[in-house]
Amino acid sequence: MAIEAVIFDWGGTLTPWHAIDPAAQWAWVCEPHFPPAEAAKYAAALHAAEDELWRLSRTDQRSATMSTLFELAGVTATEAFVASYLGAWEPHTFTDPDVPDLLGYLRAGGIRVGVLSNTMWPRSWHEEIFRRDGVLDLIDAAVYTSEIDWTKPHPEAFRAAMTAIGVADPAGCVFVGDRPFDDVHGAKRAGMRAVLVPNGDVPPYTAAEPDAVIARLRELPQLIESWQGVTRS
Ligand SMILES: [Mg+2]
Repeated sequence: MAIEAVIFDWGGTLTPWHAIDPAAQWAWVCEPHFPPAEAAKYAAALHAAEDELWRLSRTDQRSATMSTLFELAGVTATEAFVASYLGAWEPHTFTDPDVPDLLGYLRAGGIRVGVLSNTMWPRSWHEEIFRRDGVLDLIDAAVYTSEIDWTKPHPEAFRAAMTAIGVADPAGCVFVGDRPFDDVHGAKRAGMRAVLVPNGDVPPYTAAEPDAVIARLRELPQLIESWQGVTRS
């Protein structure tokens, strides 16, 4: 089956993995916006709410949004608060420098490019990051789980991504991600080929075997060519 599309995970895949201390991150975000005692209380509430929503994603594959998060934590997120939040995250959002060439290569070969991200962030935040890094126009379609009911590894999340990029047969799709459970298991169960780009911090899930493991995204063209029976001179 010819490869029609490559669908990428975002965090830890298109953008390199950073280990983040969420308690410290929320404390930093809250500090300028509340009196000290309240800042600590809200930081703890936001951290707990975020943990709970990611737990629901892991156990039930239920998605959530930033509004759900703020509501659960009892925080009214002003524009200034959101700006602090985005400022705290900014250093962890930069696209892998190999990505523009990689996406250009895929598109030049007639392969469609998709993104499927487990995220509470709205589309506009993700698109701003892709625009800043010069890759927004290289992506044919993206599905952010904040806009659908399910998260990876639920098959509906993968189906939504296929629908968005206009590919009917999962066998024509390659999924690339850093999470053995969400990405590899989810993609394999959906009928796609799965490529793992491992990072040290993600929990293992040995029940699903990736079709390939690569250390860097720049190894992907050669892998795809080998699957397509192309020999490099
Ligand atoms: Mg990831």
